[in-house]
Amino acid sequence: MKTNIYNTTPIITQYLKIKNKYKNILLLYRLGDFYEFLFEDAHQASSLLNIRLTSKGKYNNKPIPMAGIPFHSINTYLKRIITSGISVAICEQIHNKKTTNTKLIERKVIRVITPGTIYEENLLDENKDNLILSIIYNNTKWGVSWLEFTTGAFGVLEVNNTQNLRIELERLNPVELLIPRSNKKLPTLPIKKSIIKHINDDFFNYNNAYNILYNKLNIKNIDTKLHNGISAAGAIIHYINQNKIYNLSHINHLIFEQKKYKLNIDLTTKKHLELDINVNGKKDNTLFSVLNTTMTNMGSRLLKKWINNPITNYKLIKLRQNAIHIIIKNELIYLLQNHIKKIGDLERIFTRISLKKAKPIDIIKLKNALKVFPKLKNILNRILKKNNQIKSLLNNIYQNVFIFPNIALLLHDALIDTAPNTIKDGYVIKSQFNLKLDTLREVYNNSEKYIKNFENKEKLRTGIHKLKINFNKLNGFFIELPKNKQHIYKIPKDYIKNKTLKHSERFFSKELKYFEQILLESKENSIEYEKKIYNKIINILSKNITLLLKTAKSIAALDVITTLAERAQSLNFCKPIINKNKIGIKIIEGRHPIIESVAVVNKHQFIPNNLYLTNNNNINIITGPNMGGKSTFIRQSAIIVLLTYIGSYVPAKYAEIGPIDKIFTRIGCYDDLSAGKSTFMIEMQETANILNTATFKSLVLLDEIGRGTNPTEGISIAWSCLEKLIQIKALTLFSTHYFSLTKIEKKFKQIKNIHFNALIKHNKITYSYKINQGATNNSYSLTVASLANIPNFIIKKSTQITTIFKKHKTNHTKIYKLINYIKTFKFKKLTIYLKIFKALINKIKHIT
Ligand code: ADP
Repeated sequence: MKTNIYNTTPIITQYLKIKNKYKNILLLYRLGDFYEFLFEDAHQASSLLNIRLTSKGKYNNKPIPMAGIPFHSINTYLKRIITSGISVAICEQIHNKKTTNTKLIERKVIRVITPGTIYEENLLDENKDNLILSIIYNNTKWGVSWLEFTTGAFGVLEVNNTQNLRIELERLNPVELLIPRSNKKLPTLPIKKSIIKHINDDFFNYNNAYNILYNKLNIKNIDTKLHNGISAAGAIIHYINQNKIYNLSHINHLIFEQKKYKLNIDLTTKKHLELDINVNGKKDNTLFSVLNTTMTNMGSRLLKKWINNPITNYKLIKLRQNAIHIIIKNELIYLLQNHIKKIGDLERIFTRISLKKAKPIDIIKLKNALKVFPKLKNILNRILKKNNQIKSLLNNIYQNVFIFPNIALLLHDALIDTAPNTIKDGYVIKSQFNLKLDTLREVYNNSEKYIKNFENKEKLRTGIHKLKINFNKLNGFFIELPKNKQHIYKIPKDYIKNKTLKHSERFFSKELKYFEQILLESKENSIEYEKKIYNKIINILSKNITLLLKTAKSIAALDVITTLAERAQSLNFCKPIINKNKIGIKIIEGRHPIIESVAVVNKHQFIPNNLYLTNNNNINIITGPNMGGKSTFIRQSAIIVLLTYIGSYVPAKYAEIGPIDKIFTRIGCYDDLSAGKSTFMIEMQETANILNTATFKSLVLLDEIGRGTNPTEGISIAWSCLEKLIQIKALTLFSTHYFSLTKIEKKFKQIKNIHFNALIKHNKITYSYKINQGATNNSYSLTVASLANIPNFIIKKSTQITTIFKKHKTNHTKIYKLINYIKTFKFKKLTIYLKIFKALINKIKHIT
């Protein structure tokens, strides 16, 4: 059968005509029970999805490559395609429509699914924003717009150089990026090339953009000064419309991001601090995983957003801190969480409602959530009154949680409690909600009773006790009689023979077929009618979408605040004092929340440490053994600052944090060979970036600068960097194994040495993890190496060499002294030094 289809040219002609409109998109072409990929698409799909590549028919005398997937498993495959950044066009058969002159079924693309415009629950990562972004360069500025399609959050900003564009792209981390087709020469951007889509330049036309935003989406808060930003925002909406998505009532507001309220942290720093991905690229043991006890997915996405976007809006930070404080003080954590957990991912449900794609399960979830809104409002009202919180974040949340009593009643009356997955087969609307629906259903439901009655009646009429009424998909209802010669005379004349089988015979009767007709119609009618009611409900909901979305956003914020309160209490965090007028950081008994959580699991104790940095003492140089806790200390300090700047409590006994504009890190060594950069090159590039952009309000974390080159040059570079940081007055933590570097403390009062200790007993090392004043010269590297199972002979040899080098070093200083003695004619001492020097040379010769 299929081969015939492929040999006929019309179907290939039809395919090619459609494919021509979707050139860079995988076309899923519906043929019966399969979606087929043809030609080039077949090759791509076959390797991407690991499906069999075959060929059918011929085109231009060459076999047509083909690969297919069964229509019912489309979702599994779609997820794999979309997560690899590829877009697909779904081309369906339009039933009952034959194209003119041919027997060909009409086919039409009904939806283009792109990574940034998905809304289906099963295709989305529930814990991650799914942003589509567009950028345009014009008049020395980049216009940037982003849209979280699944929630309707829509932002606009402008940046004035490529470096800042990169920072924004790293922060927003889009799954799809739109740029004008004419813009071929793009700077290197921190995104995968595969997510870039070149689209029609006209989509970026300012007037078109303004028109679509203002008139079609009814967005009234457009800041026309951001010309490029608006153009980019309009382009996203044009693109979505082009992909056949038109109901966008959930997108009705633009967020104009204010740069002045952002605390900048670049991607490298986020990675080093393990905000939501750990050093191994996994999601466990991160700041987010430690903090995320949110009750809803929308809350968990918002928490991730907060962690990745610290703010410098001091008023808002204090509002968040205060809200956490009120929830803890009034012992409301568990009460609030108990209610919030019944609410679910409303943001995404509302988007599906607005797109008219909501499933019954979505509406049932909303029905249940609506029962909770009034309860939450009551709790909030009570706390607000009790604590006199008029200008507070909790009051803001309270004001923006609406209770929708009419919708709640409607959903309560109309919807059953456990809904099927789709409305396709009906039985979503409760009985007794609509009289006509009940009547239609009754006919259908009574069919069994009717069949039984009919069967009994026919048994009586014919006298054949083994007469049965049966059903199959091919023939519908039929009368089945066992084959028996005695029955022949009993078969009524109005029975029409349908089939003779080995042991039985099948008949129709007019009455039975008439009943079947009514039954089918009543089923179809009742489902059609039920769909109508369901769509009416969706329409009512979508008319309330703005308020529903506001409510969802407020509940997500409440979820995050309650979570931060719960974490603060459970993990023994304190409320940091944020002091925007006093430069410096004071942390007493600070802890690293991730290392501490691992330590707790492993039943180890985490040792807290203090940190003092001020305007006049802005640099701490940290020395100490390998694995002694230097890096942990550096990172925990940054995490405490970051948590302060998202409005959270912090893992410390006391914290006083001054103004911070940026957090920089230069930690660890790695080669970026794909970009042709050595460890040292990367180290220097990152350092250059810090020295060029840090200010007296920046927190700079430098772990081992100058390690990628020889020690003399390394120390010199590190020393010079420190002098520059003194000049900038940046708050700096600098860890090093170069003991000589600690001498710099003597020269500059802004620098202080601190160090970690360890004890070695019976070749076993015990770390104190406690910070002490001053510097240490011992890295215990050989002990650590031996613990890491470096072969014994290597350790022995290394110990020998170290001893000699150490001596050599002391002798080095002695040689200087020696020269001095020559100059001052102290000859007696000179002979002693010459002896030592000779012995040293001999030893070095011996080991090499
Ligand atoms: P360094 O940077 O000095 O080589 P790290 O900071 O990486 O050392 O610490 C090594 C390990 O020591 C950490 O992974 C952690 O398990 C443990 N550790 C570090 N600091 C502490 C601390 N303050 N309390 C308890 N354990 C700690």
